[in-house]
Amino acid sequence: MINKLFFAFLLLVFSSGSLASNETVSGIGKYDSNNVFAKILQGKPPAKIVFENEYVLAFEDIHPIKPVHVLIIPKGQYRSLVDFSSTASDQEIIAIVKSMGKIAKVMGLTKNGFSLMTNSGHNGGQTVSHLHFHLLGGEPVNCEKALREKNSINH
Ligand code: 5GP
Repeated sequence: MINKLFFAFLLLVFSSGSLASNETVSGIGKYDSNNVFAKILQGKPPAKIVFENEYVLAFEDIHPIKPVHVLIIPKGQYRSLVDFSSTASDQEIIAIVKSMGKIAKVMGLTKNGFSLMTNSGHNGGQTVSHLHFHLLGGEPVNCEKALREKNSINH
């Protein structure tokens, strides 16, 4: 009996652990403060930061799929675009949109162009449950093809 209880406890502990990076998330519900971007906002693990202000942090993706692959995130705790667009303050929303243009300039993407996208929830292929925008450039970007390449990296 005690063995069975111990086994059930172990199952609970392992099944409630953090998501592996190739698993998708729901994009809605309670914010999980154990997600990796929440940790990056606290400096651990470290990230290559390309832009920061009061509301926004932007850093290089650990597995870039284009020569330039930057992740732009709000500093506030938002799971996805749905969450952010309905609950963030006007200042936060304005700040992230303004930062997108600035970061594209800082990364030298304005002349040849770039792509900006966010994955939301399970069907969007979102793997980190903190809202983030992928800024992709440095060569022609075909988002659908890039996503396929990304999935083959993660699997
Ligand atoms: P999603 O699949 O949720 O749209 O994108 C998550 C992104 O976060 C992926 O492109 C993945 O490479 C990136 N990523 C995951 N873990 C880390 C990390 O620890 N550091 C950085 N810089 N990027 C990460």
